[in-house]
Amino acid sequence: MSKETHQFQAETKKLLDLMIHSIYTNKEIFLRELISNASDALDKLHFEALTNKELLGDMPDYEIYLIPDQQTKTLTIADNGIGMNKEDLIENLGTIAKSGTKAFLEKMQASEDNNTKELIGQFGVGFYAAFMVADKITVITKKAGEEKAYKWESAADGSYTIEECDKESRGTAITLHLLPEFCGKDPEEDFTQTYKLQALVKKYSDYVRYPIKMNFVVEEPAKDAEGKVIEGAEPVKKDEIRILNSMKPLWAKAKSEITPEEYDEFYQNLFHDWEKPMDVMHIKAEGALEYTALLFFPANAPYNLYHSDYEPGLQLYSRHVFIMDKCKDLLPEYLRFVKGLVDSPDFSLNISRELLQQSRELKLIGKNLEKAILRQLGNMLKKDRSKYETFWAQYGKSMKLGIYGSMYTGEDTASKLKDLLLFTSSKEDKLITLKEYIETMPESQKYIYYATGKDRHSIDLLPQMELLKDKGINVLYFLDNIDEFAIEVLREYEGKTFKSVSRGDLELDDVESQTAKKEVEDLAKSNEGLLKDVKETLSGKVADVKLTSSLKNAPVCLVASEQGPSFAMEQVFAETKNPMFKAQRILELNPKHELFTRLEKLYEAGKDSQEFKDYVGLLYTQALLMEGIMPDNPAAVARQIAELMAK
Ligand code: ADP
Ligand code: MG
Repeated sequence: MSKETHQFQAETKKLLDLMIHSIYTNKEIFLRELISNASDALDKLHFEALTNKELLGDMPDYEIYLIPDQQTKTLTIADNGIGMNKEDLIENLGTIAKSGTKAFLEKMQASEDNNTKELIGQFGVGFYAAFMVADKITVITKKAGEEKAYKWESAADGSYTIEECDKESRGTAITLHLLPEFCGKDPEEDFTQTYKLQALVKKYSDYVRYPIKMNFVVEEPAKDAEGKVIEGAEPVKKDEIRILNSMKPLWAKAKSEITPEEYDEFYQNLFHDWEKPMDVMHIKAEGALEYTALLFFPANAPYNLYHSDYEPGLQLYSRHVFIMDKCKDLLPEYLRFVKGLVDSPDFSLNISRELLQQSRELKLIGKNLEKAILRQLGNMLKKDRSKYETFWAQYGKSMKLGIYGSMYTGEDTASKLKDLLLFTSSKEDKLITLKEYIETMPESQKYIYYATGKDRHSIDLLPQMELLKDKGINVLYFLDNIDEFAIEVLREYEGKTFKSVSRGDLELDDVESQTAKKEVEDLAKSNEGLLKDVKETLSGKVADVKLTSSLKNAPVCLVASEQGPSFAMEQVFAETKNPMFKAQRILELNPKHELFTRLEKLYEAGKDSQEFKDYVGLLYTQALLMEGIMPDNPAAVARQIAELMAK
């Protein structure tokens, strides 16, 4: 057969043009693509050989070779896989049949030219990626079990040639005639350098199942016939063939074969963490959906976990070949701290990111992983409380954000996470679950009480706490901004609704409280005028003024109305520069306190007097301070206090 010239199919031409003029920075991915093709070719041969042993001939070992050559400025990627005959070459290297590359082209045509850069990164473009670094490619190949070998060659100028040639053994050798900038100009991008190639294989193809070999020229001290080093002699250069990839990925081994140290080391290497992970999960799923997942909880939450510059996501592999870093769609947002990888034969190397995101398999695997992680956490809570508490200290906030976030995702995350929540409470300085709270509360208690504050101490000083403590009612401490938001979404736990101690009526149901309540109601009626005037004096500051039976020793307190945000939420909104949400303040007075008696006297003496107004102002300020809220005019308050003290 003489040399034939063929035209590339129109679509292929377009793709080639793109590669040649590509401004894509990550050109090194070409090597991953060619090695993955070589690995596929070995897979195919392996499969065929199961029924036809003769195909293997006298070359039973499968291998991939990288042959860099600085003299000829070429890089050759050779394999002894299935190889190609003439028809295969025309079909596989002359046309585009793959859905991934087709989708890429369509997307390309639809978008502005200057978007090429990102698009190439998102799509695996396979064999043609090599034209990003080479101006000519020569493929010499012989199909397993066939006699003839062929040479395919193209300078990406719209056509390619095919001719017969000599090749001794089966397989394919792809030689890239490298562009000047990729063979010496810049050592960082010199694809004839062994160390560069070695690093690329480690990065992209470490887990390819077949050995990727390369010849290294190593220097050894010269030795005499007896094997003694000859002092001062020139070192001797020697060839040494090394395997560049570790081949068997840790996750592909049986779990029983892996030691905890190996998991730790693997994690620390892959994710550059100097600490060992807090927990490891190794999941192998078989059946309709086949995948392996290796998941880690880092010992410490990254400092930027909740900032937009943190990139969550798991690594994706398909049959040990790396496809993508940080695939976000495998885990729900609240599990963004989980690191690890998923390897599934159901993903294709050349699929676009977008298609991948829509893939049903990906979603299903994601759902399964979420379930598995929650199960793992549930077990940890049950069986290793102290470990769970360590987890909680790092990632508790994520769990709570998960509940809050379900407001937006519409997923019922709340019911999945509610049993994993921990809080401290007024009874004991230790963490308890909602279940434990319910189990220890008196039967008559209708609500799960909680108080918000910046620490235990400031909550203990809340005037409402006194009565609850007296009655032996446990109060959950919400010390995290997110707590109250999450609880608003959760609403109830096992039929008990949550009730803030700083919001409206505490609704204590015992006889004593009922009588006290009745008493206060009567007092409120007889003091109607007073309450009205206090409210007027504080006009614009409070929505209402009431008498209360829920205070013991404190004269006043401030509560937020049942509707609308609480004080804690108000502060969070203020911090997020969203101060439009203000809590409705209600001033509650303790009619049994002597300051109330004083107030009554001043009122009788003259409700328009400055003294009455100042007194009301100070009561309000006290209530504000107890909630940790700064009064609007601290200087004026200080002056009032000074005057009072001087009296
Ligand atoms: P994909 O790998 O997704 O099929 P590529 O563009 O990477 O797409 O490769 C195109 C086709 O060329 C492959 O499907 C395969 O049939 C053929 N091919 C490429 N490299 C080799 C090789 N080293 N040995 C045998 N066939 C190959
Ligand atoms: Mg490929």
